[in-house]
Amino acid sequence: MVAHVHPGFKSKEAAMDILPTTEDHEAFRTQLREFLAREVTPYADQWEKDRTVPRSIWRKMGQAGFLCMDVPRAYGGREGDFLYAAILAEEMSCTGINGLAASLHSDIVVPYLTAFGSEDQKRRYLPGCLSGEIVTAIAMTEPGAGSDLAGLATLAEEDGDTVVLNGTKTFISNGLLCDLVIVAARDADLDNPHLGLSLYLVEDGTQGFTRGRHLEKMGWHSQDTAELFFTNCRIPMANRLGTKGYGFIMMMEKLQQERIVAAMGAVAAAERIMEWTIDFCTGHREGGQALSKHQAVQFAIVELLTEVKLGRTFIDKLTADHIEGRKVVVETSMAKYWTTEMAKRVADRCLDLLGPHAMRDDHPLARAFRDVRVMSIFAGTNEIMKGIAARFLRL
Ligand SMILES: Cc1cc2nc3c(=O)[nH]c(=O)nc-3n(C[C@H](O)[C@H](O)[C@H](O)COP(=O)(O)OP(=O)(O)OC[C@H]3O[C@@H](n4cnc5c(N)ncnc54)[C@H](O)[C@@H]3O)c2cc1C
Repeated sequence: MVAHVHPGFKSKEAAMDILPTTEDHEAFRTQLREFLAREVTPYADQWEKDRTVPRSIWRKMGQAGFLCMDVPRAYGGREGDFLYAAILAEEMSCTGINGLAASLHSDIVVPYLTAFGSEDQKRRYLPGCLSGEIVTAIAMTEPGAGSDLAGLATLAEEDGDTVVLNGTKTFISNGLLCDLVIVAARDADLDNPHLGLSLYLVEDGTQGFTRGRHLEKMGWHSQDTAELFFTNCRIPMANRLGTKGYGFIMMMEKLQQERIVAAMGAVAAAERIMEWTIDFCTGHREGGQALSKHQAVQFAIVELLTEVKLGRTFIDKLTADHIEGRKVVVETSMAKYWTTEMAKRVADRCLDLLGPHAMRDDHPLARAFRDVRVMSIFAGTNEIMKGIAARFLRL
């Protein structure tokens, strides 16, 4: 077991060893960090301006073995545990951009295929997901249904050995780049809000599947977020993922991991923000002395670091429990809401500490401030998180 030093903190004393990382995990972290420093970080500003990332970076990540770490060996994967997801989320946050949605692909979308896919679907898609030839997306949200997934209106009608999809999805990450999208739809012949939804696999190029606008957002500029349209989109019946009518149950299961990944991203972002802020406050001189020599600045940093460390301890323990298969619905909902609110508080206060220096649009803290804002909204809003926790606590 290797004690892990979080990259957001420079002192070894900051190391925590809640997560049972091995030499293999640490070697993965080192290689990934070097790869991202070479292939991603230098291009971050350009990709933010482009409002997307190039397809080539997905292939490079895949070829280097940094995608879909948990895919079984039988399909060419590493069959790694969820700690690789934690490492990916942390190291991606060091790049300073969120547009390369590797965690979404590897630890949120592809796990649906691995868990619920037929043997044929796994053989058809998993090798491409690993190599980066296939970029994935998941389309749940609609103009009239996001929090309330039971209210989805996209319709799936069986016709012989095909299924015809009709409906509109919105706010879909990787929406423009994706080669394969998992679509949540209501089965026309099942009349049940929860046991009437199924998941379908739709490939790029399928007739009736079109993309809409690239949605301009206040943050996450390099991530393509788009509308998707399904108009008499006919797919083979064999493209249904898992059991008919079990879509809601599959989403409820996998949304847990999505929320843990979101919380990991929030804590990692807060750590990065603190690192930049401490660097600035110790290096920047006002009136002949470093900013960090002012008691007000010291207190602010100590208070913020305390919050970040609480978040780190919480998410690491939750990750360990998730890996052990414990029931963590309440803790996941709490972690998703608390860590994302914490990251927003940290970004806001650090912006004040840096003052005008962080006001430049291209400053990493300005970008982080914009980017953390959405974290309380996606993967289930924080109001919904509190509602789930309250329900499971039988309040
Ligand atoms: C950048 C970005 C990327 C995204 N990526 C994806 C993606 O890849 N795939 C995908 O399917 N979706 C994606 N989404 C959509 C996201 O998951 C939804 O926006 C989110 O779940 C909220 O749903 P909604 O938009 O329908 O909002 P609504 O459900 O309409 O919520 C509006 C407000 O009402 C509140 N509210 C709703 N219901 C309740 C309730 N019962 N109790 C209390 N308050 C309530 C909400 O908390 C919120 O404040 C993304 C969104 C963004 C912004």
